[in-house]
Amino acid sequence: MKILLLGPPGSGKGTQAKLISGQFGIPQISTGDMLRAAVKARTSLGLAAKKIMDAGELVSDDIILGLVKERLTNQDCQHGYLLDGFPRTIAQAEGMRDAGIEIEFIVELQVDDEDIIRRLGGRRIHEASGRTYHVEFNPPKVKDLDDFTGEPLLQRADDREETVRNRLQVYHRQTAPLIEFYSALAAGKNQGSNPRHIRIQGSGEIGDIQQAIIRNINTRHDGS
Ligand code: AMP
Repeated sequence: MKILLLGPPGSGKGTQAKLISGQFGIPQISTGDMLRAAVKARTSLGLAAKKIMDAGELVSDDIILGLVKERLTNQDCQHGYLLDGFPRTIAQAEGMRDAGIEIEFIVELQVDDEDIIRRLGGRRIHEASGRTYHVEFNPPKVKDLDDFTGEPLLQRADDREETVRNRLQVYHRQTAPLIEFYSALAAGKNQGSNPRHIRIQGSGEIGDIQQAIIRNINTRHDGS
């Protein structure tokens, strides 16, 4: 099961990625999480990436491709993976294709920009575990504290409104063209493997969206 989850920042990719990868027993490969781990560990990559991430810009294609290629050689990726936040540019998608990294399902989450600004503005994270909450839509049991550890929740620097607007612009300019790129592949217009394109409305209950994704994948996996 090789799945790519595509959608704007704040479309619920990370949340759905955790649920779907758990359901299918495949690892979630999140380039955002990998970069945040490097920032936290203060590696040279992390130090270079931090400024770019805080501004809502994209880290260079070469660095990202290097990270992902290495991660995919791990034993746990043998039976599939779920890519979350990668590829984000046509160059990354081409690099991935050239490296023989296959995709069977493209799951596209659709959410309006204004919804995203509301969602990300209220998002809070528990840094150590990556658990996410929302002050309005998915609040913790105790305000500003993680449900499991009781530790304080934080707002990501790149979830501030100005940065979110920039991330959305970057998404529309650089990442949204991937939908056309993969639609063409799915329609067999380009050479290479033909992933199946599944479009899901990303507004609504987390559980309903998860079920819609799983239903669509299972249906198409059976070839029906
Ligand atoms: P995310 O958690 O997926 O929203 O990623 C957070 C930030 O990490 C992005 O705004 C980018 O600065 C950087 N990043 C994550 N994935 C990629 C990628 N595939 N290509 C370039 N930059 C990325």
